[in-house]
Amino acid sequence: MRRAGSALPSGTASLLQAAHCVSHLFISDLHLDTARPQITELFLRFLRDEAQQAESLYILGDLFEAWIGDDAPGALGNEVAHSLSACARAGTRLGFIRGNRDFLMGPAYARRCGIQLLPDPCVLKLGDHPTLLLHGDLLCTADIAYQRFRAQSRSPDWQAGFLARPLAEREAFAAQARGESQRYQQSLQSDLTDAQPEAVEAMLRLYGVGRMIHGHTHRPAVHALPSGARRYVLGDWYDHGSVLRITGSDWQLSRL
Ligand code: MN
Repeated sequence: MRRAGSALPSGTASLLQAAHCVSHLFISDLHLDTARPQITELFLRFLRDEAQQAESLYILGDLFEAWIGDDAPGALGNEVAHSLSACARAGTRLGFIRGNRDFLMGPAYARRCGIQLLPDPCVLKLGDHPTLLLHGDLLCTADIAYQRFRAQSRSPDWQAGFLARPLAEREAFAAQARGESQRYQQSLQSDLTDAQPEAVEAMLRLYGVGRMIHGHTHRPAVHALPSGARRYVLGDWYDHGSVLRITGSDWQLSRL
């Protein structure tokens, strides 16, 4: 437990312990963009209030709608860095897995935010549950064209080439990504853009875990799998926020 004062009257410490139970928060797919200031406001309030009280906050990708390099964060990127670093200074551990929109986020920006960049996927021990954290696009194996682009765009050469391009060119790429994002929102009925059950089972087996948490598909749900495993899918932040709160053995996926 953090923040327990040492000079408290007897009995107060245990009360505080009940109120400040260690909790871990998971969010993804905020798709922050200057076009949707109310979602930015919701996120900044979430950081100031709930996240500052938590033990840790994990952002599982697509925090930003587009990211064209740590050298061009824009006013929005600067504001978010300021708020994240305030949360980190308050004692909350911040982890970040890059999504398919902000996969170009680098160590320079992460340092400014006080966040730790994590590999996609990675295993986190949560209570008794080794849990796989991932953005989720790796599970959408039916979308072969996308998986091809993903493999290409995660190579250091591709990224170095892109980041060396003039800002105007990179901004044009971001504009195109925004258009694709809108089309993606409209294609949510299609199985092509959902996680494939075989890919989910294969991933759980590969890492030897019984739980996974991911976003990306914008289909918030808790799936109990035939194997006994559980898959927690975080929702996007379009009409409202979505957060998975883990307090002890209690795992709750909620709207904000
Ligand atoms: Mn995504």
